[in-house]
Amino acid sequence: MNLTPQLDAIINHAIIGFQFEAIRYSMGTLGVFFLIWILLAPLLKNRKIRAHRSPAKQIKMELLYSLRTILVFVALDIIIFDFAQTGVFKQYQDISEYGTAWLLFSIVLMLVLHDTYFYWAHRAMHHTKLYKRFHLTHHRSHNPTPFTAYSFAVGEAVVMYAFIPTMLLFIPLHGSALTIVLLVMIFKNAIGHCGYELFPKNTLSNPILKHLTTVTHHDMHHEKAGGNFGFYFTWWDKWMGTEHSNYEERFLQNTSRRVKSVNSELAIHRV
Ligand SMILES: [Zn+2]
Ligand SMILES: [Zn+2]
Repeated sequence: MNLTPQLDAIINHAIIGFQFEAIRYSMGTLGVFFLIWILLAPLLKNRKIRAHRSPAKQIKMELLYSLRTILVFVALDIIIFDFAQTGVFKQYQDISEYGTAWLLFSIVLMLVLHDTYFYWAHRAMHHTKLYKRFHLTHHRSHNPTPFTAYSFAVGEAVVMYAFIPTMLLFIPLHGSALTIVLLVMIFKNAIGHCGYELFPKNTLSNPILKHLTTVTHHDMHHEKAGGNFGFYFTWWDKWMGTEHSNYEERFLQNTSRRVKSVNSELAIHRV
């Protein structure tokens, strides 16, 4: 039996998968890092959530864990590529097949479903029986950075990966919709860990913005893990009573601080 064609196919899938995952991760994390931590940092001084930046050794640890996460994704990509040949996934290439309205709706639908999946998977990983094996690695970043986005244990990487192929079994998705969803995912992930509150001060009273999770929302989750499990939206945390009781107060502190009082105010929240 000649294994060369299969081996070639696996290597080919691995290269394509690695390029895709590495570019997506770099766009999100490096993009947010350069934009927020380098370019805009002087302007955002009063929006910095913690008093200190994370040490370089934490970022190094996050990059190593993120590389491992990308390799897990690539390994799963290889399986998915093969599985896709059976026609089991409902991905389509011709927009006219389902129309533009569906294309747009499918993006929103995927984000809402992903938020639900994330909330419950995330909350489950905080269960004492799963936490150490699945989620402790992510929480080793007590003071997160944009690179915390993919700082996962192997088990968590598999859980995070599983959402898209599972949805593709049931929901027809155009390639462009899938790409947009994947990009929104990584940018939202990196922004949620960036350590600067970027949302406007009136977010909590704005009829649309108040439904979105802010940077403070997820930053508080890293600071004290017992709540704020949501990803895009605040709905599940509100419905299930898991929003941190002082979230709104902390958000207002992070958006109302004056530059000269940054140090004294931040000192209060230093953890
Ligand atoms: Zn968590
Ligand atoms: Zn996190």
